[in-house]
Amino acid sequence: MPTKSGPDSQVFLERVRSFFLRRLPLRPDYEERPEQLEMALDVARALAEEELLVVEAGTGTGKSLAYLIPCLLWSFEHGQPVIISTRTLNLQQQLLEKDIPLLRQLLDQPFRATAARGWSNYVCLRRLDSQQNSQQLTPELAQEAGELAEILSLGASGVRQKLPVSDALWSLVQADSHACNRQLCPHYQECYLFRERREMERSELIIANHSLVMADVALRANGAQGILPKPACWVLDEGHHLEEVANDHLGRSLSLADLQRLRQNVFDPKGKVNDAGWLPLLRDRLSKADQRARLLECLDRGLLVSLPGFYQVGEEFFYGLTQSILAAGLTEVGARATLNSDFFHTPEGEECRRLSEQWAAHLEHVESGARDLHRLLTDLELEATQGGLVELQSLIERVKTLRANLEFCLFPDSGDWVYWAVATTNNATLGATPLDVGERLAAEFFAPARSMVLTSATLAVGKDLDFYEKRVGLDHHQNRVARRLLDSPFDYRQNAYLGVATDLMDPNRADFWERSSQALLWLLQQLGGRTFLLTTSYSSLRLARDRLAPALAQLGIRVLAQGQAPPGLLLEEFRRDSRSLLIGADSFWEGVDVVGDDLSCILITRLPFRVPNDPLVQAHCRRLEEDGLSSFRHYQLPQAILRFRQGFGRLIRSQKDRGMVLVLDSRLYHKAYGAEFLGALPACNRRAGRLAGLVQDAIKWLKGFDS
Ligand code: SF4
Repeated sequence: MPTKSGPDSQVFLERVRSFFLRRLPLRPDYEERPEQLEMALDVARALAEEELLVVEAGTGTGKSLAYLIPCLLWSFEHGQPVIISTRTLNLQQQLLEKDIPLLRQLLDQPFRATAARGWSNYVCLRRLDSQQNSQQLTPELAQEAGELAEILSLGASGVRQKLPVSDALWSLVQADSHACNRQLCPHYQECYLFRERREMERSELIIANHSLVMADVALRANGAQGILPKPACWVLDEGHHLEEVANDHLGRSLSLADLQRLRQNVFDPKGKVNDAGWLPLLRDRLSKADQRARLLECLDRGLLVSLPGFYQVGEEFFYGLTQSILAAGLTEVGARATLNSDFFHTPEGEECRRLSEQWAAHLEHVESGARDLHRLLTDLELEATQGGLVELQSLIERVKTLRANLEFCLFPDSGDWVYWAVATTNNATLGATPLDVGERLAAEFFAPARSMVLTSATLAVGKDLDFYEKRVGLDHHQNRVARRLLDSPFDYRQNAYLGVATDLMDPNRADFWERSSQALLWLLQQLGGRTFLLTTSYSSLRLARDRLAPALAQLGIRVLAQGQAPPGLLLEEFRRDSRSLLIGADSFWEGVDVVGDDLSCILITRLPFRVPNDPLVQAHCRRLEEDGLSSFRHYQLPQAILRFRQGFGRLIRSQKDRGMVLVLDSRLYHKAYGAEFLGALPACNRRAGRLAGLVQDAIKWLKGFDS
């Protein structure tokens, strides 16, 4: 409901409309898109009338310009930045490299648009300086540090993505909020991070990502200084990811990887780079200072001697945690296990607690050692150790956080949190996630915002946005929420074929591939690859790869399977040579764009219901059941419909695209809820039948279209 409607708001809307009708047609590749104008006017109204706008805009609406233009015009008028946040780097790059340069051409007025990044993306000049002066680096790292300093002195950006730097050196020189003395740092004026922060304050548009935005919310909630300027207005594109990112950042966790990073940064007694880290460097400085005996005694006794034991017991804890959750049969490698108080009464759980208590004692010891040294250095006011003081403060904060999170996550006594652990082949993580992240978003994110636009191509279940609004906490602000559903301008009736196999069930069943392989191989041969196969788990991904790859190789069709290379590289490979079948699980269901004939078919092996034994899924379902609601209807089904829409959405990415989606799960046909999945898709050519006949019909349709 609009809250501040008035003449000013109408004037602003007219200004936005005029831009779309007069300026936008000056683009050489201009296409009239009524949905785009409609969305732009909604965004303008949200800005002017202080609304929280939820807008689903189908593929092809041109939604980035639909929000960028009103945001920019609003910022010109009010002299305040608008923060635009995306989930993926791809979209962030598209905004910075394509849409914003286009806007510069269309506008008479210059403007600033700045990319916002987290601390660890910037080089810290103080740390680089210390490392270069330390004479503690290996010759290779010393040379690399010298080259980095040289490149920076020639005017390179201090952002990691644009610098040729190894992981080993970066861990020693990256910026860290706890290890920064800000205005007191001698490099403050030329510091890359703070230069960009100052630039951000003067910008009209700030291009951020959801992780950074949620990290900012978490910092402010803890009373700390935020990362982003305190803005009035926000746009969250790819807004369907908000709940998941908020879960990651508003929860608490600690991992073996955190411990390993700390070791690499502070002092690694066993590492490849002997003596790497700032602690030996500090020791070197102190060995030349007055009162060195007292200082070295404090440093050696409090830290240098105790750190190796601290790492070892920490590693034993994570190793024990892994063994315990696997031995207790709570989960398998790579999947999250619920940790509840029952688990801690089993022998495995008790062992886990025992190890955690041992590690907590080491954490306490290291923290107190770091505090003693910090106090002593502060009292002695040794100028040469200013950098050391900041690093010590950072160590104290990191160890304190590890200890607090360890204690919090291992005492699962609040019904408002979900406690979990996960082990992969080289990491183990212990965590706790708030059960109702929406409540926190409502209070800490939506309430202080002057206006907010949340947009994506998939937010609605059917034509209903309620599910999304509840999940992210917008239901707490009903009087400020405005809604809009905009269909895709693409012609699905003409260009898309949806086939449902009526004779197949679960791809994890032994006979699934025996019954489907022949028809699928024939289909892929006819298409010459050009197909994505989407699975709902890694086990069915592996099964599909093992069953199809040998026969496809004989047909000259490659199989690219998620996990064999990073997803971005796999996608590049597919685009380079589309005589391929790309098999993907989670990340390929969305955000993946292959335009044109290179992608003509999407195979969906199973309806994408979430894994029922995931701790968060279990906890949400349990809470709904306790409230007398069906968890299937109110949680699992809407989640799966949204995912299904995302998978279907990979097919048609431009006006000219055409192709088929074949669903190999007959529940879509036989079950009553199948109609709700189908009802959520745009109208297109739909068929159902046995797979063998279906693939022939689909190819006939495609060829008929071709001729
Ligand atoms: S201001 Fe902070 S981040 Fe920047 S160089 Fe100094 S210590 Fe590093």
